[in-house]
Amino acid sequence: MKKFHGKSFDRRGVLKLAALGTGVLATARIPAVFAQDDRVDPESAQAKSLNYVHDAAEAAEHERFKEGSNCANCQLWQGGDAEWGACAIFPGKKVASVGWCTAWVAKN
Ligand code: SF4
Repeated sequence: MKKFHGKSFDRRGVLKLAALGTGVLATARIPAVFAQDDRVDPESAQAKSLNYVHDAAEAAEHERFKEGSNCANCQLWQGGDAEWGACAIFPGKKVASVGWCTAWVAKN
């Protein structure tokens, strides 16, 4: 039994604390990593093939663009927050609520 800051710890207790600390740190870092990586990259091959843009205003001149259309009012929008959400076309990625692509279908 060893003493650390006046408290006694056996080897097993120290290992448990170390494992817990590592788990807490790993869990705390995951959301930050996802926040950076889970948005659709408009430069990706799939996004480019669908002319996806983070801002529908950039697509205003596209022949298939309908005035007022964006991801948040698309049938394929699967919900999210005010800025980012899921789309059936881009599984595991988030699209901008004000984004747009050529697969846009009016919500029923
Ligand atoms: S399919 Fe709809 S929700 Fe998905 S990226 Fe295109 S416009 Fe946005």
